[in-house]
Parts: sequence; structure tokens; C-alpha cells
Amino acid sequence: MKERMEAIKKAAFERIENAKSLDDLNEIKTSILGKKGELTSVLKGMKDVAPEDRPKVGQMVNDARAAIEEYLAKESKMLQSKIREEKMKKEVIDVTLPAKKLKAGHRHPNQIALDDLERVFVGMGYEVVEGPEVEYDKYNFELLNIPADHPAKDEQDTFYITKDILLRTQTSPVQARVMETGRMPIRIISPGRVFRSDEVDATHSPSFHQVEGLVIDKGITMADLKGTIDQWAKEFFGPDTKTKFRPHHFPFTEPSAEADVTCFKCGGKGCRMCKGSGWIEILGCGMVHPKVLKDCGIDPDVYSGFAFGIGLERVTLLKYEIDDMRLLYENDERFLEQF
Ligand SMILES: [Zn+2]
Repeated sequence: MKERMEAIKKAAFERIENAKSLDDLNEIKTSILGKKGELTSVLKGMKDVAPEDRPKVGQMVNDARAAIEEYLAKESKMLQSKIREEKMKKEVIDVTLPAKKLKAGHRHPNQIALDDLERVFVGMGYEVVEGPEVEYDKYNFELLNIPADHPAKDEQDTFYITKDILLRTQTSPVQARVMETGRMPIRIISPGRVFRSDEVDATHSPSFHQVEGLVIDKGITMADLKGTIDQWAKEFFGPDTKTKFRPHHFPFTEPSAEADVTCFKCGGKGCRMCKGSGWIEILGCGMVHPKVLKDCGIDPDVYSGFAFGIGLERVTLLKYEIDDMRLLYENDERFLEQF
């Protein structure tokens, strides 16, 4: 009996030593000390033992049980601390590791140019006003002296929603809306998105941005317009920039002009950017047509004013020397992060 007990103990110790997890230990405990365990079955066989030997055998079983339980508890404690140690090792923070690079966003070049443009005009006392992108024909065309048979109204150029509602083709309808309020004097710029049914290429897009300017007061003349554009060009493109006006035609201004600035790349000597002329066409402008004033409820005998329209993409492309307008809409990070 004694040998059997020793054998059970030895086997148990060996199994405990080789246990790899707490589950293993639990299984060993059940298989030896459990209801159907090896030690328990020894106790069950007690009836075959001579009565005088029973206390001795009982003592032996209890001793073995105690020894195994003690060893199990010790191993279990060791395993637990080992598991904790490994867990801590995994969670350790290596402060010498290089930090993850944070990716910061960049302002879009169009937005940088617009902020810069607004800064100049707000500095001259202009208010920034926005208007709806879905517009009535009345504001987009009629009140701006663009009659029903004008080629600009062709469906080839304009996205019509209904007969009277369209996607605005210019930011000029904001002029009509502001004039209609009758609050004088007016000194606004109005940036925004406009729509034309153009094919996409290096210089065209069905959707682009304009910045409209409008000033109306008593005694406003063409000289005010020239001075304003000249001042803006100097602040926007550089202090040495010169401007010149060329006669042009727009339905809503009379007289009308296109303004050129000296090439800011070559300073006017002539280069690839200005196609050798030294000048770059930059915007359209003119004195607000008396009919437009009258139709918007302003007395043209008392008030006069000027308007101008700047193509935002055009000045952005020029200012940052970008040669394809499509780059502005593709949102390629490799392009945008250069600004
Ligand atoms: Zn040039």
C-alpha cells in the first residue's frame, strides 16, 4: 500500500511539474483528488484493508493528499505570476521608439488664394457676401441685361433645372440680389462656385469658382475701378505689379474692360508664362450698366458703380504656377501637401 501511495504521489508531482497552464493544473487536481480520482479510489478500497491497518492507510492517504494539494497550490501561484509577468512584458512602452508621424491637412491652393484675395478687399472696406448656387433665371440673366435671345442662355452653356431655375453660370446674380435690397452704398465681394456645361480639360471644368466685386455709390468713376484693381494686383501679386485695361464687352457693364497685370514671373520682359507679351489677362470689369441699375431699383442719375469678376482658379493657377486646372479638383495628397 505504501508503495502504491508513493507511486501515485510521484506521478502526480511529475504531472504538476510539467503543467503549462492553470487549466492543466485543474485537470490534474480532478484526476487525482476528484470524486473519481486515483486517491479517492484508494479510500473506496478501504473495505478490503484489515481493520487494524485502516487508520494507518487513512493517514497515508491524507498525507499524500496534503502533499499534492500543497504542491498544486505552489505551482499554481508560480504559473499565475509567470502569466502576469508575460502580460506586463507585452504591455511595456518603449520610450525610445520613434513616434508615429502625424499627418496634418493642408489648405487647398484655391482656398489659400481666396483667403489672400478676401484679405486685400476686406482691408479696403469690402464686405464678403454669398448667394445661392441654384438661381433664378431672373438674377442670373434678366436683371443683368442678358436678354432671352442672348447666346449665353443657350442650353449648351447653362445647366437648366426648370425653364426658370438654373445652376448659376456666374457670381454676378449676387450683384442683382444686393442691389435689390436698396441699401447704399454697396461695397461687396462675393466668392462662390459657378457652373457651365464645359468639357473637362487643362483650362476648363463644368464647375469652378469666381469672385465677384461690386461698388455702388454717388460719384463712382472708372478711375475708382482702375485704382481698386491696381491696388489689389499690387497686394496680391507683388508691389511691382502694373495693370492696364483693354476695351471689352459685357452685357451688364458699360464701358467694359479686361484688365491685364504685368507678368509676375518675368516682370514684363516676356517669358513662357506670359507667352512673351509681358502681360497676363486677369479679370473682366466695367462700370455697371445704367439699365442694370435701373432694373434693380437704383436711380442711375444719382448712383454709379463698378463691377469686376475674377476667376479664382485662374489666379490660383497663375500665382502657384500650376499648369493644369484638373490638379485642383483631383485632391491628390502628393499635390496638395506642397502648399
Ligand atoms: Zn512673363
